[in-house]
Amino acid sequence: MGGDSEMKIGVVGAGIAGLRAAMLLEQKGHEVTIFEARDRVGGRMLTVDRGEGWYEAGGEWIDADHHRVLRLCREFGVAPEKSSQWPGLVVYQGEFATENQVWPEAEADAALVHEGAVQLIEQWRKDGDPSRLLNRDLLDLDSMDMPLGKWLDRVCSGVQGRWWAEAVTRSDEGEDTAQVGLLGWLRGYAHYLERSEGEMSLYRIGGGGGRLCERMAERLRDIRLGRAVRLIDPDEGEIEFVDGERLVFDRVVGAVPGPILDRLIDPVGKAQEEGREAEVGEIREWSIGGSGTRMARAVKVVLEFDRPWWREKNWTGRMLCDLPCQQTWEIGRGNLHALGCYVCGEEGVWLSGRQDGVDVALRALSEIHPEAMRYFVAGAVHDWIRDEFSCGAFPFFGEGHAPAEIDRVVGTEPIGRLHVAGDWACSWMGFIEGALESAERVAGEI
Ligand SMILES: Cc1cc2nc3c(=O)[nH]c(=O)nc-3n(C[C@H](O)[C@H](O)[C@H](O)COP(=O)(O)OP(=O)(O)OC[C@H]3O[C@@H](n4cnc5c(N)ncnc54)[C@H](O)[C@@H]3O)c2cc1C
Repeated sequence: MGGDSEMKIGVVGAGIAGLRAAMLLEQKGHEVTIFEARDRVGGRMLTVDRGEGWYEAGGEWIDADHHRVLRLCREFGVAPEKSSQWPGLVVYQGEFATENQVWPEAEADAALVHEGAVQLIEQWRKDGDPSRLLNRDLLDLDSMDMPLGKWLDRVCSGVQGRWWAEAVTRSDEGEDTAQVGLLGWLRGYAHYLERSEGEMSLYRIGGGGGRLCERMAERLRDIRLGRAVRLIDPDEGEIEFVDGERLVFDRVVGAVPGPILDRLIDPVGKAQEEGREAEVGEIREWSIGGSGTRMARAVKVVLEFDRPWWREKNWTGRMLCDLPCQQTWEIGRGNLHALGCYVCGEEGVWLSGRQDGVDVALRALSEIHPEAMRYFVAGAVHDWIRDEFSCGAFPFFGEGHAPAEIDRVVGTEPIGRLHVAGDWACSWMGFIEGALESAERVAGEI
């Protein structure tokens, strides 16, 4: 292994976490090579050019307190652009409302959900002792360990309110609440309570997130595209590629989604191979391989039109509804007139398996806005569920994770020579900001 300076470092994954980690490590004088499975950099940040303009097929919105992203955008000449489409339309069973004022029954249930969450968070923090948050024995956590959806079923008093709670939460989590763990969700909710509402989804990256990644890549010395990794050996610092080639590094940075890293390091398989059966249970519980981060099942359908008909009817394009276009917003940038439909969870899976995904979303949108059919020109489905190098849109915790276990994952420690980056190994979980946060942590570790 090299000395503390000028180490040979292999970074697996050229998403924004891998790119940023490589950049910071090069600045520290290390010799860094990035290996990326795809033929492009950016991973889940992908800007699609469409002549008149462009859109984001992956990560898009930046909150006002995502200071790392905002700073990086300015540094790379893709200054953030302000864009607010809130409050959007809400349509449930043909009835219309707006996000800032839904129906009284749904408002009442939303208040119950909020109060219930605050109460549970306070229960965690009883006596002002933060260690309570970390210790399963001190709390009756088992009674709180359930799918978020089950808890919402108990808290909400009506069908309409339950639907509204589902729609709002699914739009944040990118997943049905039946899949999301209550404890993991509460952790995020506690974070949200510390912030002000005006801070959410306020900016988008000028020129596009994919371009930001390309510009970052231009400054790096050695990026190898089309180099899919099959295994990482954390003890030896060895990377094995799918074509069988093996390379050894002083340190390896794993900057891929959690479930993919689980497969690449396969500590359980390794223990089994070496006959350490007795350790398997413990490894499963505590190693990254058993972290339990899952990827939200989300599909983006983009519908292009020959005119921005929604603006003509004084609507921003943002909508939450109970049809299979689920959530829409104005996604087109520059002079591209386009709406994005964000379809998540089971409905996302259903849509992702179909040839006619564009048609399905367009027909659903037209039921509410007939203009959509009239002015439609082209569409595309961006299917993150079936993308083998993402395995979904962004990470979340399912049921069965106490806060202490979650904290261990978000502050992931190095395993041998392997350092872990990505939007799942950070406190800003599931955000571009989190990917950058993890890259800074890794650069500090090496
Ligand atoms: C539809 C969608 C909407 C989103 N919306 C937002 C949003 O509004 N705001 C926000 O902040 N975030 C959003 N996100 C999340 C955001 O895009 C991610 O948090 C961020 O891009 C993650 O960066 P990363 O580098 O951690 O991971 P990735 O971008 O996933 O990078 C990992 C890289 O590793 C590569 N890789 C995978 N397996 C291998 C292998 N075996 N060998 C070699 N390379 C491999 C991948 O190809 C990829 O390039 C969204 C994501 C999606 C998909």
